[in-house]
Amino acid sequence: MQTKIIDGEMIASEIKEDLKKQVEDLKEKGLTPGLAVVLVGDNSASKVYVGNKKKACEYVGIKSFSYELPENTSEDSLLELIDTLNQDEKVHGILVQMPLPRHMDEQKVIKAIAPHKDVDGFHIENAGALLVGAPGFISCTPAGIIELLRRYEVVLEGKKCVVVGRSNIVGKPISLLLLRENATVTICHSKTTNLEEEIKQADVVVVAVGKAKFVKGHMLKEGAVVIDVGMNRDENGKLCGDVDFDSAQGIASLITPVPKGVGPMTIAMLMYNCVLAATH
Ligand code: NDP
Repeated sequence: MQTKIIDGEMIASEIKEDLKKQVEDLKEKGLTPGLAVVLVGDNSASKVYVGNKKKACEYVGIKSFSYELPENTSEDSLLELIDTLNQDEKVHGILVQMPLPRHMDEQKVIKAIAPHKDVDGFHIENAGALLVGAPGFISCTPAGIIELLRRYEVVLEGKKCVVVGRSNIVGKPISLLLLRENATVTICHSKTTNLEEEIKQADVVVVAVGKAKFVKGHMLKEGAVVIDVGMNRDENGKLCGDVDFDSAQGIASLITPVPKGVGPMTIAMLMYNCVLAATH
């Protein structure tokens, strides 16, 4: 079987291009979407992510307001900043880059963000909205995955989807979104006893584990669609996913590469949520 590689970068560019036009129209009407980007501490990976998000804002025409706070910032001062941003009319979306320093309670910080500005979709109100099928912000990585599957015309209805990983930011929300698309969804995690058997039955596999090349080609069903969320370094320090890309060749029908698969879609969907926040 010829394995087709999903071009996440191209789809993300198309989405950003569309958003750019929408933002131009909004600006003509006097509305400039604004995103506050808050970074606490000096985690080098977080700095790269924040930099990429600000660059995407610039491209699309969203005004970004940058807040870089030192590692020893108190939780109270961060909560105060969020409160100010919640009330600032120029700020439509608030993004607090995770992880936060250990002395902060991430859930408490997320909860402080006004749900209508929670463009990451992490607030309990938005997570709950997804659960019950109410409108709300959908977290960016799962939203990006669904968009990729849609644009590659992958039929989900009635298909068996296996999600490996149950985090609040990827595993759980993507499972709910696949369910919403009428797929039959199985969620696997570190205590799953028959992981290989589960994966072998899947028409669509989403892997969000955080372990380099964890899922090998021989575990996949012939023709499976493989979405690799992982961002890891291999033994040579090269960026790689949770799926062993090389051994999946010839077995998977479609696969996302790492990089240039799910990653760029996460940022594109963040931009989408910012425009949505400004217009609703
Ligand atoms: P978490 O560490 O929060 O969750 C990992 C999940 O994998 C957990 O549910 C865990 O199970 C499960 N797991 C761990 N080991 C095994 C195992 N041996 N077998 C089965 N399941 C296992 O990770 P995230 O969801 O935040 O991220 C996952 C990966 O995706 C990371 O590499 C991260 O960098 C990447 N990522 C990429 C993004 C992008 O934009 N491309 C965005 C977000 C994340 P349990 O719950 O039982 O512990």
